Amino acid sequence: MEVPEKIDCIDCGQPCYRLSFPPEEGWAIGDYVAYRCSGCNDRWDVVVADPDEITPQSSLSAEARAVFESRRQDN
Ligand SMILES: [Zn+2]
Repeated sequence: MEVPEKIDCIDCGQPCYRLSFPPEEGWAIGDYVAYRCSGCNDRWDVVVADPDEITPQSSLSAEARAVFESRRQDN
């Protein structure tokens, strides 16, 4: 399973770069992937979602947005 190297920050729109390295066996559903915003320096933790449970119209980033709202961490 692939996860993006970079996502857009919900707060400031700047790119957030992935902090986590891929596990040897690859990303699995339920894994946490951490990103650091290059703009506001917030950290975002994304849960890898099951693509079978995502509607064709939605993307990982759309899924991640919902998760972001509840998983934001203060620095
Ligand atoms: Zn930001």
